[in-house]
Amino acid sequence: MDTKIIRTDPEHIDPAAMREAGRILKEGGLVAFPTETVYGLGGNALDERASGKIYAAKGRPSDNPLIVHIAETDALFQIIEEVPKKAMAMAEAFWPGPLTMIFRKNDKVPLATTGGLSSVAVRMPSHPVALALIREGGGFVAAPSANTSGRPSPTTADHVKEDLSGKIDMILDGGPVGIGLESTIVDFTEETPTILRPGYINREMMEKVIGPVRTDPGLIAADSAVRPKAPGMKYRHYAPKAEMTVVEGEEKAVQEKIRQLAAEKIRQGLRVGIIATDESAPFYPEGIVKSIGARSCEESIARHLYSVLREFDQCGADCIFSEAFDTPQMGRAIMNRLLKAAGHHKIQA
Ligand code: AMP
Ligand code: MG
Repeated sequence: MDTKIIRTDPEHIDPAAMREAGRILKEGGLVAFPTETVYGLGGNALDERASGKIYAAKGRPSDNPLIVHIAETDALFQIIEEVPKKAMAMAEAFWPGPLTMIFRKNDKVPLATTGGLSSVAVRMPSHPVALALIREGGGFVAAPSANTSGRPSPTTADHVKEDLSGKIDMILDGGPVGIGLESTIVDFTEETPTILRPGYINREMMEKVIGPVRTDPGLIAADSAVRPKAPGMKYRHYAPKAEMTVVEGEEKAVQEKIRQLAAEKIRQGLRVGIIATDESAPFYPEGIVKSIGARSCEESIARHLYSVLREFDQCGADCIFSEAFDTPQMGRAIMNRLLKAAGHHKIQA
């Protein structure tokens, strides 16, 4: 299959391009598109054949449900049984935006979209290209991240091309994304709303709106027997090909530890990658040193995380050492992705 790539300026959306992309969705095809979090791979969420194509293109395990993207709050009432009051307050505070909420679904949503679950995850993204596409495509767009399953999520159209060219109908190239990490997922089928995946919108921000929010125990106890409730969180995900280690501790001690570990591996003849920051990069004398962003600007760290992992694949690193990034707002989200990339391999400096 030929994958058509169309550049779309988010500030000046071309209505003809959007109509063409919308028609593909309505006919059961697949279109990758930018959102404010990462690029999504869209198909009609109410068409089980389209959902099937998404799983096939990504090589995604069929028990890993898709998030349904909507462009108006009204659409929510068409696909779920009941909207809890707290969820409405969350929608008012954070939609459109990087927040996904899970509800009990009605029959309109096929089980093929929800990985067989009776619940459905819903998000209203804020990216203008995403909103225009959802409206043109019928209002309900199932869209996981537009990467091959197991690879880092795509934050540019080139990343999508690398993974899915020839497997999908169209890529809308709206430039690099803003946030760079997938949405926060909160489950409203539980007594107390529960975070299943940390993201840009953190627990404190949500608690200001709806009071107590808990974190899925399966998220924190990553290597225990407790299973995360979001099926997707159990897979080794976001993974670069190299073996990766995250080094935690006081900043200077971390740098010293990484310098030592890198020197040892280089002596053994290995290609060593180091994930540093703008501030720390000059302190590493050897290895392939890449800055993930400025430690003083957590947005820059989130935005570059996945592209740095992809770059290390391309330069053929055998092992990667990364600093830890315990930043104020997105620290939990950044560390969640980084530790998953590392297969939870971390050491203390
Ligand atoms: P992605 O689309 O790649 O961002 O992944 C979507 C994430 O949402 C995966 O971790 C899924 O397991 C999770 N998810 C989607 N729908 C549900 C649901 N109904 N219940 C629990 N987790 C869900
Ligand atoms: Mg994904």
